[in-house]
Formats: sequence, C-alpha cells, structure tokens
Amino acid sequence: MPAGGSAVSAGGPTVSAGGPTVSAGGSAVSAGGSAVGGDRHRRGAGGGLLQRSRVWLVWSPEVAPQGYGSIMERIEIPSHATYSPVALTDLMVGAPLASRLLLGAVLPGQVVSASVLGLYLGSAAQDWVARSGIRPIDFQEEFGVDVDTLEPMTEEARRWEVRLLGNAMNEDWTPRRIPRLRLAQLVNQHLTAYIARITEQEIVTSSEVRSFTLARWVLPFAGGTYDMVSGDVAIFEDHGVFEPHVIAHEFVHRKGYGKELHAQVLAYLAMRASGDPVLIQAGRAERLSRQLSVLAGGSAARFLEALELACLRPELRGIIGQVCPADDEGRARIRDRISDGMRALYDQRMRLSGQNGLSDYDEGFTNFLWTFTHSEQARQPREHAAI
Ligand SMILES: [Zn+2]
Repeated sequence: MPAGGSAVSAGGPTVSAGGPTVSAGGSAVSAGGSAVGGDRHRRGAGGGLLQRSRVWLVWSPEVAPQGYGSIMERIEIPSHATYSPVALTDLMVGAPLASRLLLGAVLPGQVVSASVLGLYLGSAAQDWVARSGIRPIDFQEEFGVDVDTLEPMTEEARRWEVRLLGNAMNEDWTPRRIPRLRLAQLVNQHLTAYIARITEQEIVTSSEVRSFTLARWVLPFAGGTYDMVSGDVAIFEDHGVFEPHVIAHEFVHRKGYGKELHAQVLAYLAMRASGDPVLIQAGRAERLSRQLSVLAGGSAARFLEALELACLRPELRGIIGQVCPADDEGRARIRDRISDGMRALYDQRMRLSGQNGLSDYDEGFTNFLWTFTHSEQARQPREHAAI
C-alpha cells in the first residue's frame, strides 16, 4: 500500500476550492469523511527542504468528483480461466504428475495437460483481444510522476507521515471484516470506478480470487500472485486489515497494468477514494507498513523504533507490528533463505521489465504518492493521495 492537495494553502485559515475542504492549523478535524493530516514541504531548486509548514487537510470522498460522464465506454475482459475450479496452470503441470502417481502411466496426464493448454490459451486469446481496446492511464500526465520520475522522500518527511497515518488510523479504526467473496466484489467495483474516472472506460473484470495455486511454492514471500496469461489471482493467506489492498493490487494487474508500482498506487488511490472505512483502513495500513519498511532498511530494531512514532492503538499496533522484518537469527531458517533467493531473482526480473525492482513496492510507492502530492503538473486532484 503520502498527503496534500491542489486546494491546499499553507498558512491561511481555511481554504476551499473545487470541492475538498482544506484548513490550515494545528488539529485534525473531520467533515463527513475521514480526517486527513497533510504536510507541505517546499523544495528549492536543488531539491532541498527549505521550509515546512503544517497543513491539516480534510478530504471527504463524498464531495470528490465522481467523474462518470454520460458517455462511458465499457470493456469486458471475459477472464474465463479465472472461473475454472482449479487453476489451469496447476492442471497443466499437475496432470502428468498425478497420472504417473495414480495410474502409473504418463500418457493420460499428457492428454489432459494438452487439452487444458487449449482452454488456457483460448481464454488468454479472448482476454488479449478485449484488452487491446483499453486506454491505459498515462501516469506521468495524470499524476505528474511515473516509474522513472519519482522524487525521493526525505527521512524526516517519512517520519512525519508515519505520525499522520497513525493519527488517522487511530481515529477511524474499525474492527469490521468483510468476507473475501464480498470483499473482492466491492474492491473490484471501487477500482473499476476509480480507473473509469480517469480514462472514461469501465474495464469490467472477474472478481474471482483463488486461495491456492502452485505459485505459492515458487514465490513463498508473495502474499498473492497474478498470472498474466490466464488472469488468475491467488491470495494465499488471510491478510487481515491489509486484505482489501492486497486484492486491489492484484486486480489492477487483471485490468491490464503489469508494473508493480502502478498496482500499488492505483490500489491505494482506489481504496482511499472508496469512502468505505474498511477499504480506507487497508490503504492506510499498507502505506504505513511500507513507510516503516523503508525507515527500517531491513532492521527489526529500526522498524520498532519507527513504529513508536505512529502511537497506534493496541489493536493496530499488533497488526502493523507483524510486518516487522525478521532479525538475523530469524532469517537463518532454510525457508527464508530460499525466499531471499527468489526475491533476488524477482527483483532482477522487475528491473529487466523497466521497473526499479522490489523497491517499487515500498520506496517507489511512497515516493510516487509524495511526488504526486507536490506536483504542479498532475491532472488529477492531489487530495486523492491524502493520508
Ligand atoms: Zn503485483
């Protein structure tokens, strides 16, 4: 799973322009939506921090423009493979093996495998044709930032944001959980709406989520996976408070966005704009945990020190504390070492595909929201990146 707004005025009493209400002062207030703390940093020509003035920003999603025009193009990605009871990739790999173990013969499994391959490729071809009509978001134009134009946050700004996130999460804490089936539908609706706001295209995709695929064993560090050919999304465990963001991230991929930075950012923005307390909480939890990861730099002690800044209520502290990196002793386990090896390979694969590597999940993600918040060129309202 960073704050500010186009209508923000530092130092003035209360400013309102174009919908969102912004007030400058010392304490957070709430106006029908959730309280949001913002902090504006002015940068000099050299990029250094010249002055910081504290701004409290209140953004109510209800007053944000909905953006649905009267003409809305609708593109449906059939995603037939996602409705198969077992992942087709698993069937292709598993059928010959099962056949050998159960029947002592390879051929029946190979026949099954070949016919499944036909289904898999047929579904992929239909999805590919449907996707060809999508107008993808131009991130640089809409948000004033993309993978290669990220401005780094200072450590001071990160620490300040941890405080703001902790404050907002404490105030809006909800223990409510939504069953995964319903949650996936809800997340998909909000994500579709958010992207449609920008592109005026409704990209309709499946809300199916698997709880198991063989990829679980290939990428043990991953909380979820996306199969870019079949469109299959798998979420391997209950991610608790984070779950809406995790599902949203994978669903962004399903809607045609391959880069991890884009998946992180669109998932956050859609959850933040949803107006649903459970979804907003998930986005904030992701953002906070990623800020803490960057500040920790792999050290459990530094993570816990940064976590103190958030002053979280006990329920949240326990949840966010679970993502604390393992110390050296903990990483001695074989499984973690294998996981580390796969992470290195995955990092390399990301770099080869025009991304910045695994840092796009946390450092890139938080830098994106920071740069968007301070962009003078972004077409989208900057309060979308509010805390
Ligand atoms: Zn991803």
